[in-house]
Amino acid sequence: MAIAPPTSPIHVGVLALQGDFEEHALMLRAAGAMATEVRTLDQLNAVDGLVIPGGESTTIARLLIAFDLMEPLRARIAAGLPVWGTCAGAILLAARVPGLDRPSVGGLDMTVERNAFGTQVDSFETDLAIEGLEGDPFHAVFIRAPVITEVGPGVETLAALEDGRIVAARDGQLMATCFHPEITADARLHALFVSLVREAVREGQPA
Ligand code: GLN
Repeated sequence: MAIAPPTSPIHVGVLALQGDFEEHALMLRAAGAMATEVRTLDQLNAVDGLVIPGGESTTIARLLIAFDLMEPLRARIAAGLPVWGTCAGAILLAARVPGLDRPSVGGLDMTVERNAFGTQVDSFETDLAIEGLEGDPFHAVFIRAPVITEVGPGVETLAALEDGRIVAARDGQLMATCFHPEITADARLHALFVSLVREAVREGQPA
């Protein structure tokens, strides 16, 4: 009888140049992953999946270039690395971002509008039904959040506001959410991403 090899932990990195990366690492661990901070090329190369956190997208883009991570990250995305961008991270994953002062990382075939809720309601909370999540709606916290104004043909909408504006989307191994799932106690979205990473690792391994 063959003895199954021990399953190695799924290793998810959190891009830790700016923004709320620590909260993501805690949630990823709660979802059963090994989570580490990514600031260097070696750290990027070691991970099976990556979270780009919320923060300030222009700052994170600038630091990605300064830390020589922009091109390596694009290359890993092109090679199939699962990446989940939240808020500023979603902006960075978008192929098209009018008003970003430098190119985004890109990869996800969507257009994102930054600070889409203006100054009057630049932060709010709402309950969202999210495709792929069982149970209660997800309590979503939006902080100076973007919206996804257009998605390409291969992109799945995971959640929309009551007015129809898209706030979560997925294209294969790339996932984007406009809100902050790392600051609530609900780890279901982190668990969803960890299972997506686990699936990608399994598919990438020789049979
Ligand atoms: N408004 C920020 C930006 O455009 C994103 C805000 C956030 O990540 N909470 O980068």
